[in-house]
Amino acid sequence: MQELCHPLPMKRHEKGLCPCCSGRIYGECCAPCFKGMHPLTAEALMRSRYTAYASGFVDYILETTYGSPPDTQQVLDFCEHTQFIKLEVLCSKEVGLTATVVFIAHLKQHQQSITFTERSAFLKENGRWLYISGETFFGENRSLSC
Ligand SMILES: [Zn+2]
Repeated sequence: MQELCHPLPMKRHEKGLCPCCSGRIYGECCAPCFKGMHPLTAEALMRSRYTAYASGFVDYILETTYGSPPDTQQVLDFCEHTQFIKLEVLCSKEVGLTATVVFIAHLKQHQQSITFTERSAFLKENGRWLYISGETFFGENRSLSC
């Protein structure tokens, strides 16, 4: 049984721990990203996207995706039917205007683990980090590097 690092459901307190598991308080971690502040690093963007999924902030997911956006209803269904247990960022690397982040998303759907490991690619466009795409692997794959 994974320990929850944040209370469910989605109601957030500015002074509560951030759902992205950074150990920082929400109001000083991901919350400003949802009020128009652009994350300074690709890792911060990745964390804010996790928090957006966990909070059902579909617009933020669409806005921070490079190229053609994902289907709104699919994103919403995923947010609604998934329990966001924990995020672990294994590594992140920025090279100029591109970046790679490897993370493990500990998730459940209908009491079943759907935990996956993803190596995500990011791009900085007009000073703003955007998610391009990711390679995903079912379960925990701690051997992946950036
Ligand atoms: Zn956060």
